[in-house]
Amino acid sequence: MAVIYQRVALIGLGLIAGSMSLAMRRAGLAGEITGYARSAETRAIATETGLVDRVCESAAAAVEGADLVVLCVPVGVMGAVAAEIAPALKAGATVSDVGSVKRAVIEAVAPHLPDTVDFIPAHPLAGTEHSGPRSGFAELFDNRWCILISDGVRNRPAVDRLRALWEGMGAHVDEMDADHHDLVLAVTSHTPHLIAYTMVGVADDLRRVTDSEVIKYSAAGFRDFTRIAASDPTMWRDVFLNNKDATLEILGRFTEELFALQRAIRLGDGDHLHDYFTRTRAIRRGIIDAGQDTAAPNFGRGSKG
Ligand code: NAP
Repeated sequence: MAVIYQRVALIGLGLIAGSMSLAMRRAGLAGEITGYARSAETRAIATETGLVDRVCESAAAAVEGADLVVLCVPVGVMGAVAAEIAPALKAGATVSDVGSVKRAVIEAVAPHLPDTVDFIPAHPLAGTEHSGPRSGFAELFDNRWCILISDGVRNRPAVDRLRALWEGMGAHVDEMDADHHDLVLAVTSHTPHLIAYTMVGVADDLRRVTDSEVIKYSAAGFRDFTRIAASDPTMWRDVFLNNKDATLEILGRFTEELFALQRAIRLGDGDHLHDYFTRTRAIRRGIIDAGQDTAAPNFGRGSKG
């Protein structure tokens, strides 16, 4: 595949940035990839493993001369990082990010950027519960969706170029507005994570079930909750603080449905339960048919997840 951007700068060198670098290299999409992360330790690991072509000592140095800059840091620090890099951005560059929340990131980042750059927020819907500079892998985005925030008209050539990059890294690309993105993700990702955190927290509190029993019998549904609940605490704190309205709306609906199921159990209303579970089973089928998961009993994941 042809080079799409001569120079790409990745700010943050964790799971997403590392996977982007490896996926760009796999397909030869970037001439040179520079990178920067906050801690000297992460920068040293990235240098040692050759995660990017050149590790820089500041965010400003990393973005100098870059045609594409991607902010791959937690949502809560996007604004501060944008302020830091703004004076060093090349005119005509594209600035993007990979944050899991879009409206709050746009509000934090856009005011700092000069008019001479195109800002195109993005969110790859791919991840694992692992984080840090050793966690990335080239296949992370294969057959996954990446959402670009665009009104379909503005910055068209720049949006098409970024789209080509994500497709080159293996992803399918969709475009939508920021508020719709935040609502969709509240349903498909943010609220499910909160429920998983809660369920694992409940099991931890329930002293009638011993720790060894929880671990021993976890295959019966609990194991996948623990995998999700092991996700990075900083990232998920920032997601809930920054997608407050949509998450609260979906949580409200979730609580209502939970009460309805609780009532059906108490009243012995088997029809209600059966109908409900039939509907949810069809949603699962739809996900498998769309190629977004496998029907294998272990969800196609190896024992390490
Ligand atoms: P990660 O593995 O924890 O990496 C975060 C990186 O950001 C680290 O290299 C960290 O550096 C760096 N960083 C933190 N604060 C910084 C600052 N002020 N200046 C410069 N670098 C800073 O996280 P990740 O999973 O790649 O997530 C990155 C972004 O992708 C987040 O916005 C998240 O919402 C989004 N996202 C995550 C997933 C997922 O499932 N993980 C999926 C899609 C999108 P140090 O190592 O030095 O602390």
